[in-house]
This record gives sequence, structure tokens and C-alpha cells, in this order.
Amino acid sequence: ERLFSGFSKTRENLAVVDELLTYWNLADSEQVLEELEEALLVSDFGPKTAVKIVEKLQKEILEGKLKTGSEIKTALKSTIVSLLTEKIESTKLHISTSRPTIIMIIGVNGGGKTTTLGKLAHRFKKDDMKILMAAGDTFRAAASEQLEIWAQRTGSDIVVSEKVKPRPVPVLLEAVRKGVEENYDIVLCDTSGRLHTNYNLMEELRACKRAVSKALDNAPHEVLLVLDGTTGLNMLPQARQFNEAVGVTGFVLTKLDGTARGGCVVSVVDELGIPVKFVGVGEGLEDLQPFDAEAFVEAVFP
Ligand code: GDP
Repeated sequence: ERLFSGFSKTRENLAVVDELLTYWNLADSEQVLEELEEALLVSDFGPKTAVKIVEKLQKEILEGKLKTGSEIKTALKSTIVSLLTEKIESTKLHISTSRPTIIMIIGVNGGGKTTTLGKLAHRFKKDDMKILMAAGDTFRAAASEQLEIWAQRTGSDIVVSEKVKPRPVPVLLEAVRKGVEENYDIVLCDTSGRLHTNYNLMEELRACKRAVSKALDNAPHEVLLVLDGTTGLNMLPQARQFNEAVGVTGFVLTKLDGTARGGCVVSVVDELGIPVKFVGVGEGLEDLQPFDAEAFVEAVFP
């Protein structure tokens, strides 16, 4: 119920579609499809994905497969579900068969990286896993203190940077070393997210990933990009940039309890072929849930 409470705006925009389809008849299907495309665009689906959805419906209408408004609505929903699932192998986290599994958490500041790290640790703890955190955001002074609070709260251990010359790579290397030697199940690596002109975040993330890969075969096992669900259409270029720089294995969409924008989620998954693995639905430890495409579609388009 609470899962996607935040899509009120998207729901409102798409309610127009419901109305359109109620009064739909074959004769004016062209106009209805145009208005449908408009509604999808207003709901942040992005031009490519909106056109794709409308063309698929148009084809099915022409083929005589869809005859009523409610059939079109059902087809619309299943089209969106398939855009969210067809290129996706799995939305499950990849857990390595040999310990530890290394998970890098990346994303711009304020998106919910640190909170997500805490929530993930909490989830793993429920399965009795031994968790190590790496405070790899050495730019923001308060970041490692914030992470230490999450470590305490979840009963996880943590590796922090030396105070004199804070650098992310040594922190991550130390965490991987400790993770291997002390047989941790999971090492959760926080990273910097400062977007600043004088400093190349992508270069730093590449260096972090390279160091982790060198330190342990097949690591990192996951690179999770945390995306602020309220970002709207900006989400796509942002996701693309991070993916091109370091290779993203999954998204965590945060703040879906707030004024989240629904459509862009579909275009990000469709265009990049990368799964949403979790959604954040609040600020508490329990507020992280696995992503479910059908539940998502029901939420934006009840
Ligand atoms: P970071 O800079 O990326 O590490 O972001 P933080 O983890 O510090 O989160 C930034 C703010 O967003 C904090 O106030 C969090 O409590 C809040 N936040 C993170 N995830 C969620 C979420 O799923 N829902 C809501 N409502 N707030 C969130």
C-alpha cells in the first residue's frame, strides 16, 4: 500500500488517459493516441519511450486486437511492464559464491546514497550476514560520521579514512582486504557524489572501481546507482553518464514516498537495459523494498 504512495503527480497526469479511453471509439483512435502520447510525455516518459508505447498500441488497434477502451488500457499497462522487464535478466542482487560480495554505491550527493547503504546493511543483517562498510566519500567532511551512525544502527563494522589525507582508494582497498581476511559476507562501499566543476567525479569513481577490481577477482560484484525519484527527466542523462563512466549493474530509486516522477523510470530502464533493484520509500531502515514492475505500473496507473 505504502509502496509507491508518492506517484500522485504521475497518477494525476495519467488519469487523463483513463478518461480518454472511457470515451474511446475506433473512429477517432488517431486523436486519442495523440493525446495519449501527450499524457505520457507530461508524465516524464521521454519522447523515445512514449512513441514506442503509442506505436505498439496503434499497431495492435490496426490489427484489430484491441477493440475497447479497457482492452487498450490493459495493453498499455502490459506494454509498460514489458519495457521494464524485457531487457532485464534479474532484479536480484548478485551475491558472490565466495565471500565477500563487494557492492559499490554511487550517485550524486543528496540522492540517498548513505541512507541506502544503511538500509541495505539492515536487510543483510536480517539474514545474519556479516557486514563491513567502507566510508569512501572522503570529500564531504560529515559523510563518514554519518555512515558511522548507520554502521552502529545496523551492527555493521566500518573502515574510515585517515584524517590527515583523506583519499577514497585506500579506504576501499583496506575494506576489501579486511573483508577477505575476516570473512565478511558483504562489503558496502560508499563513494563520493560531489558534482563540482574543478573535480572529476567520474574519474574518481573509475579509479575506485579499478582499485577494487585489482584487489579482488570479479569485484565489484554490484555497482548500484542511487537515483533520486523526484529528479524527473534529468534522470536519464544522469544514469547514462554514470553508466558510461563505471558501468552500472542496478538502480536504487529513492524517495518514492515523496513527489516522485514515474515515467522517467520506464525510459531509464528501457533505454539503458539496466534493472531497478530496489526502491526507497522513506528515511527509516525498513524503507527499502525490492522493485516489482507490476506493482509499479499499478501504482502509476491504477
Ligand atoms: P547522499 O548524499 O546521497 O548520501 O544522501 P543521503 O543518504 O544523505 O540522503 C539525503 C536525504 O534524503 C536525507 O535527508 C535522507 O533522509 C533522504 N532520503 C534518502 N532516501 C529517502 C527515501 O527513500 N525517502 C525519503 N523520503 N527520503 C529519503
